[in-house]
Amino acid sequence: MSNLDTRPDEVVCASGGADLEVLTPREVPLGGPRAMRVRRTLPQRSRSLIGAWCFVDHYGPDDVADTGGMVVPPHPHTGLSTVSWLFTGEIQHRDSAGHAALVRPGELNLMTAGHGISHSEVSTEGTDVLHGVQLWLALPDAARDGEPGFVHHAPPAVERDGLTARVFLGSLLGETSPVGTHTPLLGAELLLAAGARVVLDVDASYEHGVLVDTGSVSAAGAPLAANDLGYLAPGRSTLELVAGDEPARLLLLGGPPFGEEIVMWWNFVGRTHEEVVAYREVWQSQLVDGTQHDGRFGVVADEPLAPLPAPELPNARLRTRS
Ligand code: MN
Repeated sequence: MSNLDTRPDEVVCASGGADLEVLTPREVPLGGPRAMRVRRTLPQRSRSLIGAWCFVDHYGPDDVADTGGMVVPPHPHTGLSTVSWLFTGEIQHRDSAGHAALVRPGELNLMTAGHGISHSEVSTEGTDVLHGVQLWLALPDAARDGEPGFVHHAPPAVERDGLTARVFLGSLLGETSPVGTHTPLLGAELLLAAGARVVLDVDASYEHGVLVDTGSVSAAGAPLAANDLGYLAPGRSTLELVAGDEPARLLLLGGPPFGEEIVMWWNFVGRTHEEVVAYREVWQSQLVDGTQHDGRFGVVADEPLAPLPAPELPNARLRTRS
């Protein structure tokens, strides 16, 4: 997914309880002919990172006949991995490292940009309803200049009383994802039956985020509404979740505090303003007469859509997020 929001709004965040910080979403147009809209809960001014998770876009359920679905032409990334996770629908992914994949509900598709990659994401013709998330992970300094890559994993459903979990990154409920990451991470989809109460063992060195897709929950004793992202600081070894009167679907994200300052702009993660300016210049230099030429960000093969030019840089210097 491509971040087209170059002037993020300031969002006031209410505190949901003693331990839980509630990050409410803001609506951002994603682009495409009819500008599908997404609900962005990360980054925001009050919080940029949860572990290495640095970007949370949540969308749908959208009737594709109304929104036009997802039509994101080739665009570049550096210094991050993207995690696509769908609840409904299908997306065709193509990238410059030669990967073409169908993103399907309940299956992890993790694309690592490293030094540089470009990709396109388009919902398939057979998709009537599109509903899912796209998450970004910041790569640590030691890995951010590495080779691009792509990993697919369909995690098994872990069943407990009132709970079905799919652990796509890290470990939870005795299930460990085989997908390797450059920093310790947790990523899982949780389905709670109406009124279900679960107490999860979690890593006390991790901070956690609870993104509510459908229904409402109490997380660590404080309420979260649909589309909210609840933040919990490190220091807890259990996490209690209680569903409201309806079944609830959540994503649980986590990781130890990232510990590095990053600069995020458009689709790039770097460490300095100058670095991001240089990434933008390289991408723009690969776009000639509306077509993509080879270079640091490669070429997306068999791609009918014209590549996405970078927006103008803001007048101010880009600031680090920590
Ligand atoms: Mn993207």
